[in-house]
Amino acid sequence: MMSGKFLKVSCRDCSSESIIFSRATIPIACAVCGATMTNPSGGKAQLVGCSVVEILE
Ligand SMILES: [Zn+2]
Repeated sequence: MMSGKFLKVSCRDCSSESIIFSRATIPIACAVCGATMTNPSGGKAQLVGCSVVEILE
């Protein structure tokens, strides 16, 4: 079973919060400042420019 969680993350550059999927397979950029927040790595999103605020079910 492919399980994944949604994560609420905070951009390190502008502190705006976004919801991302933990297994996102494409890079995700901050909607506000455009900073790269995640890069796909080994089937899951590697957080590069954001911090996890909350793990959503
Ligand atoms: Zn940002």
